[in-house]
Amino acid sequence: MKNFIKEFIPYWLGVKIRGNYQRLQAFVYRGNKYVCPLCGKSFRKMLTGGIENEIFKKYHIIGGGRRPNSVCPRCYSTDRDRLVFIYLRDFTDVFKKNYQILHIAPEGSLRAYFMHKTSVSYTSGFKDAQAYKGYYYDQLKQHIDITATDFSDNKFDVVICNHVLEHIEDDLKAMREIFRIMKPGGFGILQVPFSPDLEKSIEGLPAPTPAERLRLYGQEDHVRIYGVDYFDRLKSVGFEVNKFMLYHSDSEKYKNYAINPEEPIIVVKKSKLG
Ligand SMILES: [Zn+2]
Repeated sequence: MKNFIKEFIPYWLGVKIRGNYQRLQAFVYRGNKYVCPLCGKSFRKMLTGGIENEIFKKYHIIGGGRRPNSVCPRCYSTDRDRLVFIYLRDFTDVFKKNYQILHIAPEGSLRAYFMHKTSVSYTSGFKDAQAYKGYYYDQLKQHIDITATDFSDNKFDVVICNHVLEHIEDDLKAMREIFRIMKPGGFGILQVPFSPDLEKSIEGLPAPTPAERLRLYGQEDHVRIYGVDYFDRLKSVGFEVNKFMLYHSDSEKYKNYAINPEEPIIVVKKSKLG
């Protein structure tokens, strides 16, 4: 049905209808319990998001699965988009400097903020962008395969790659590529869903179909369940890795943003000497 709608309703009209629907939804959900830092609106509750799956529960996956109060009714930012945004706003100077930023598979609300409210030099895109239809990504045409980009060495001050690597077969190749195109002294935010219970990631199982991947990895387009060895992989390509528990750094300040208290911000740095 969704594809049918996208096929027959032109982009401009789709965006208009979607915008009106979001405004109405924001009105219905209005209240004071939660505030979205990206659109600035406040709500009595947010929408439930994510996918319900037993595998995610079994391994206590952080940053995945079905989550109440995760999607903003007005701008559709998710808990993880807000987490990244708040980190950038409160713990970096990204919104104050004229940095070169690369945003892979960009979240719509975060992308809109970068494009319209900051002076950064902003590049975004994702693999096979041209083939993707929708009112969320439709105008995003740049094809970027993060395992093999055309960017020069040491180009970007900041790389944001939020919940992408769990979709990529050769994730080490993607990590090496991110390291290559990052400036010495630059940093990246490389969020993935992961299990703190697993020493070793689950991957490489025969899973040729979406149904098999759903059964084994918890989502039709995931190719692994990361364990805590994720952080070692990042280190193995040269990054310094820091897990920052943003919510717990000031729970009083952050409690109304509807972010996941248990999700760390995974910050990688490329040393100036490297
Ligand atoms: Zn919002």
